[in-house]
Amino acid sequence: MSAPLPFDNSYARLPDRFFRRLAPTPVAEPSLITLNRDLALELGLDPGWLGGPEGLAMLAGNRLPEGTEPLSAAYAGHQFGNFVPQLGDGRAILLGEVIDRAGRRRDIQLKGAGPTPFSRHADGRAALGPVLREYLVSESMAALGIPTTRALAAVRTGERVVRETVLPGAVLTRVAASHIRVGTFQFFAARGDTEALRALADHVIARHDPEAAAAGNPYRALLEGVIGRQAELVARWLLVGFVHGVMNTDNMSVAGETIDYGPCAFLDAYDARATFSSIDQHGRYAYGNQPRIALWNLTRLAEALLPLLAADEEAGVKEAEAALGGFAPRFEAAYHGGLARKIGLAEMRAGDAELAGDLLRRMAENQADFTLTFRRLADAAADPAADGPVRDLFVDPTAYDAWAARWRERLDRAPRGPAETAAAMRAVNPAYIPRNHRVEAVIEAAVERGDFAPFAELLGVLARPYTDQPGLARYGEAPEGGGIGYRTFC
Ligand code: AMP
Ligand code: MG
Ligand code: MG
Repeated sequence: MSAPLPFDNSYARLPDRFFRRLAPTPVAEPSLITLNRDLALELGLDPGWLGGPEGLAMLAGNRLPEGTEPLSAAYAGHQFGNFVPQLGDGRAILLGEVIDRAGRRRDIQLKGAGPTPFSRHADGRAALGPVLREYLVSESMAALGIPTTRALAAVRTGERVVRETVLPGAVLTRVAASHIRVGTFQFFAARGDTEALRALADHVIARHDPEAAAAGNPYRALLEGVIGRQAELVARWLLVGFVHGVMNTDNMSVAGETIDYGPCAFLDAYDARATFSSIDQHGRYAYGNQPRIALWNLTRLAEALLPLLAADEEAGVKEAEAALGGFAPRFEAAYHGGLARKIGLAEMRAGDAELAGDLLRRMAENQADFTLTFRRLADAAADPAADGPVRDLFVDPTAYDAWAARWRERLDRAPRGPAETAAAMRAVNPAYIPRNHRVEAVIEAAVERGDFAPFAELLGVLARPYTDQPGLARYGEAPEGGGIGYRTFC
């Protein structure tokens, strides 16, 4: 089978102990749900071929074209704080890598492609609902401008998977800058395999941190690269109300992309303690805990890298600590700068972080919807007479009024005029996020009734998050009761 797919598989050239080579397990009756044509073009792939019979056979894992070198990767990880020395791709199979139109190397991976040596008695499959959820949320994140893995295609398998109930099966084609995780480094560190650790670090430097190769200490520069990307990423999550839900070290990408959309959710009513995952009983991965957890995970990465950071351990610890010290300032700058832009301030002055923090506090006390508050604030910036729709979001609207008076004084001292401020705010405060109740409704229609029209409509809305879409405004609305009590399962 020949295909116009220019695979170039650098991960498959790493030593054998990095992965197990195996082909996906064919499925009974593949059918295409959706193909991401724009992403296919960006990758230099032919959407016509991908959507045809040979493409479908590849996307289902039934028949692979020449050039693929399928493998499942080995990794370890801390799950909810407990170290598991061997996890690995239990249901994901990397087909290979392509160089995209912009010259970037991108992984093409099937998720739900059948059992692997890392499946640990699980079935290696994915259910339709979680596949649609990952498709919607990851594409929404991309449209919001937040680094993320992408969804190239979703196919039905024609087979059933057994979870709590019997569900239709599906396969997601995931695209990533790489699938290398903090847990990949931990896998080799836990085995004392410094040679593999070095090979992995060199691979990551070549792939994600090429400038680190020229640094005085390339491995410290690599660590700093990952720390900087994660600090920015978590700040971006907070600024759109995203709760990842399962920030285990095996779910943290060294490329700095959001990865593993299992039990994730978006805030409706603002609450820093919000946690949605049914398995996160103690709120370890709550919205407001995410920066702390990111640093904890990065500390595990630094530990894993110790043998490479310096010749003796004491010196290595110094290097690690210095690099980890860079997390907080990088996060704070990204987060506070982002918050300032959300309230219409292009440049930070003394007191601005406090002003934004005061708004968040009032929002939390008044169960104000996170996304709607900031979006409607843009209208209020354009016209002080348009305060009504924002203040209505607060249980006690006077809590907003008191803040708005301070905010207006500050805006008056800013160089931009009202219209310009409002436009800048609309460009950073989305009208449309994948609201939990909308995602659930889409999944229910697909799973219960085989109706994919709601999925397609929501996907279309989420592709333009910063643009008001008349006739589709309902997708911007908050759920009844602020979405409190919503639960996700993975
Ligand atoms: P996650 O919670 O999605 O990060 O997954 C944790 C580990 O469980 C990873 O090693 C996954 O590959 C594995 N895993 C999750 N679901 C399945 C499944 N249905 N079959 C096999 N392995 C799985
Ligand atoms: Mg995972
Ligand atoms: Mg998962």
